[in-house]
Amino acid sequence: MGWKERKATRKKIASERIKELLQLSEIYKDDEILSVNSIKTAVAISKRHKIRIPQNYKRMFCKKCYSPYTPNKTVRIRTGRGKVTFTCLKCGYIKRIPYTKEKNQKTIENKL
Ligand SMILES: [Zn+2]
Repeated sequence: MGWKERKATRKKIASERIKELLQLSEIYKDDEILSVNSIKTAVAISKRHKIRIPQNYKRMFCKKCYSPYTPNKTVRIRTGRGKVTFTCLKCGYIKRIPYTKEKNQKTIENKL
């Protein structure tokens, strides 16, 4: 196996590990330590291998303190003016997502 294939395999394994960890954090949402640790590990792997966290999982936790989002418990979700606001109740981090043109989220973030 050449290094290119090895790199691809390594990335594939890493991204599967990330998914597993994020699924684990979902299952053990009520166990704060376990879920936060799973998310932290997933984020660490994603950074080390330069892999993106799947879009659908990005909304599931606070990127600042890694708390899994549980509506009315760890996060407050408000909608208005075409945006969804996620306020982390653990650390106060605010994330805003435009909900009409979700696909343009990146473009909007870049403009801000
Ligand atoms: Zn937070």
